[in-house]
Amino acid sequence: MVSDIMIDTHCHIDFVDFEEDFENVVERARNKLSAVVNSGTNEIDNQKTLDLAKKYEGFIYPSLGFHPVSSQNSSEEEIKSAQNHLIDNIKDIVAVGEVGMDFFYVTDKSLRERQKEIFTGFLEIANDYKVPLLIHGRDCEKKVLNMLGDYSDIPKVIFHCYGGSLKTAKKILDIDDYFISFSTMICYSQRHQELAKEIPIERILTETDSPYLALTKEERNEPVNVERAVKKLSEVKDLDIETVDEVTDKNARYVFGI
Ligand SMILES: [Zn+2]
Repeated sequence: MVSDIMIDTHCHIDFVDFEEDFENVVERARNKLSAVVNSGTNEIDNQKTLDLAKKYEGFIYPSLGFHPVSSQNSSEEEIKSAQNHLIDNIKDIVAVGEVGMDFFYVTDKSLRERQKEIFTGFLEIANDYKVPLLIHGRDCEKKVLNMLGDYSDIPKVIFHCYGGSLKTAKKILDIDDYFISFSTMICYSQRHQELAKEIPIERILTETDSPYLALTKEERNEPVNVERAVKKLSEVKDLDIETVDEVTDKNARYVFGI
């Protein structure tokens, strides 16, 4: 039996994918999980995230950001507006994110530069207001880590869905209060399983990134599936499920202050 103290620290249940059966998705999550952190990916979704957190107070927690792949094409005005909205609600959120850079999808030099600029704006907000930072960094994990070196007031940092090298992971773990998050992707990705073996459970968070990263392409992922990531982590790390549950839940509560 898996106890109900798992947390999905990163998902997007405000997406239209969940419109039709939203209540059922939340119900299934409530039966197994103790909390869900929903991450906004633009200003509209950020407001939806705040509304959900209000409606499901004590279960859904809000993290507000701007996804790098969409923000790179947004106007300066849209970015500013999203940042002001974020600052207006900073007291009610558990993290700034997801924000970051994605060099997997984006190879164009000037767009990468633009991502860096936008990410820096959000880094400054997290640093000024001393709020945890939830990062999407893909194929640029080391660069992201180097950028973080300029900010000393960001209280906690989460590398969501980390897929970088073990070498960079070790550098991340050298810094207190930096965490690495594993998604349901660990169920099928050998690479992530290998990584998880080397990372102490005390520094691991669990997530689904729903509706993404389902076990099959046809499937829609949902928060309750974080159970699968927990199970796989327990196998990979040779720990019992209860321990993985307990420790990752404790980590998440510490990181987000919930
Ligand atoms: Zn995400």
